[in-house]
Amino acid sequence: MAPIDFSLYDNLMEGVQIISPCFEYVYVNETVGKQINVPHKELIGLRILDKFPQLKNTSFYNNLKTCMEQRTSLENVEKYILPDGREKWFSVKFIPFNDDILIMSIDITKTRQVEKSLRKKERAYRKLFEEMQEFFLVQEAVYNDQNEIVDLKLLVINSATANVVGKKPEELIGQLISDQLGPLNGRLLDITNRVILNNESIHFEKFVASLNKWFKVHSYSPQPNQIASLVLDITENKQSEQEWEKVNQQLDFIVNNRTSELAEALSREQKLSEIKSNFLSMAAHELKTPLSAILLIVSVLDRISEHGETDDRDKYHRYIEEQTKELLRLLDSFVAPFHKEIGASQLNYETFDLFVFIEQIKEEFQFLCKDQQYIQIQYQGGRIIEQDKGILRRIIINLLTNAIKYSRKDVVISSTVRPHHLILKIKDDGIGIPESEQLEIFNPYFRASNTSSFQGTGLGLNIVKMYVELIGGRISFESKENEGTTFMLVI
Ligand code: ADP
Repeated sequence: MAPIDFSLYDNLMEGVQIISPCFEYVYVNETVGKQINVPHKELIGLRILDKFPQLKNTSFYNNLKTCMEQRTSLENVEKYILPDGREKWFSVKFIPFNDDILIMSIDITKTRQVEKSLRKKERAYRKLFEEMQEFFLVQEAVYNDQNEIVDLKLLVINSATANVVGKKPEELIGQLISDQLGPLNGRLLDITNRVILNNESIHFEKFVASLNKWFKVHSYSPQPNQIASLVLDITENKQSEQEWEKVNQQLDFIVNNRTSELAEALSREQKLSEIKSNFLSMAAHELKTPLSAILLIVSVLDRISEHGETDDRDKYHRYIEEQTKELLRLLDSFVAPFHKEIGASQLNYETFDLFVFIEQIKEEFQFLCKDQQYIQIQYQGGRIIEQDKGILRRIIINLLTNAIKYSRKDVVISSTVRPHHLILKIKDDGIGIPESEQLEIFNPYFRASNTSSFQGTGLGLNIVKMYVELIGGRISFESKENEGTTFMLVI
């Protein structure tokens, strides 16, 4: 028989050796030499056990023997200790080959190492998966005939998740979500569709009423048709969040209360200082009227001093006396009522003859009038009234001095005494009040645009209104620019 040409095995990646029935090396390729770190050509013709006695009771040698005797192929994967002491893993096939045995060996040491480390990692991950407190589950979509997702089937679940419903993972795998949590609809169905159909990764929070728990969920699709969810129980966080919110609300409430108390105190303070400054402005304005009257009378007295009639002098002295008394009355009234704020002032009602009262005012203020300007008086009804004389006088004086000031013609005071009220009108034919400004004239410091050539403070009418309200009356007016003004009081 012609010798067999083994050269076609020379360059194989696998190790090839051919062993004769008397266990001698017939052929060994270079790969075997490299695998066991022995020059391969040196082995040819040697008996295996002579060269490597340590192989004697190994499964390698036993397999070789069995294959040799039974002429059947065998295969094994095993760790070998090489002649140089190193350990290596080989996958070895024993194949009958004519009378010989062909041994094909593949060095799988590296693959084994990778497998080993993978297995180690997998064990670590599985342990982590089983022991983690967080819930993890993977579910597979279940479709209806219209190709719509209608349910989810549980594929993977860790112990922590199964514990929530008091079961073991293996009892739950393969079950439908509808069996555990009810039909898949609403928000959960929407999220499932987005994750599985759009491949979105979604974070959301969910309250499960049946468990009375809050969960934070991260869902994503690890593979087509699947949804994986990592779920954290955030009930405690939520509770402390809610408690925080409650505490914050209480704090807000307290702060708001304090703020409004402060705001109230501030506005009381502001109102008080407003009242004080209004009072000062009003006092100054009111005192100015009798003082300027006194000055005027004194200058008249000067002029008639030497050669004037005694009667005239007496009259002017009486005027001065009246104005001075008015000053004193004013001072008294300021000290008493305004300290208790306007509404609480004590009114001083008395019964008097309105006719005499107005005539006296007319006499006192006639001298303020311009040339050819007179104060006229008209009466209707009775004469005797009951009223706070001081306040009524101040109302009339304010309106009368305005009428004299803003007009060159006569001023008319008319009064109508009715059983239950008094109507007083003070009319002039002066500059009038521009229509567009009429709404503002009772506001403090307001002066109409046509008064620039007249002296004034813009306080008189505001004070009048205050006095009128104090005695329970009403004030109104009619006015036309360049034609005149009539103020009407109903008390
Ligand atoms: P003033 O010190 O400016 O006279 P008042 O408070 O008494 O202040 O009056 C406010 C404004 O109302 C005046 O500035 C003026 O424009 C208008 N007014 C009041 N009375 C008359 C009037 N009889 N004729 C024309 N305008 C008047």
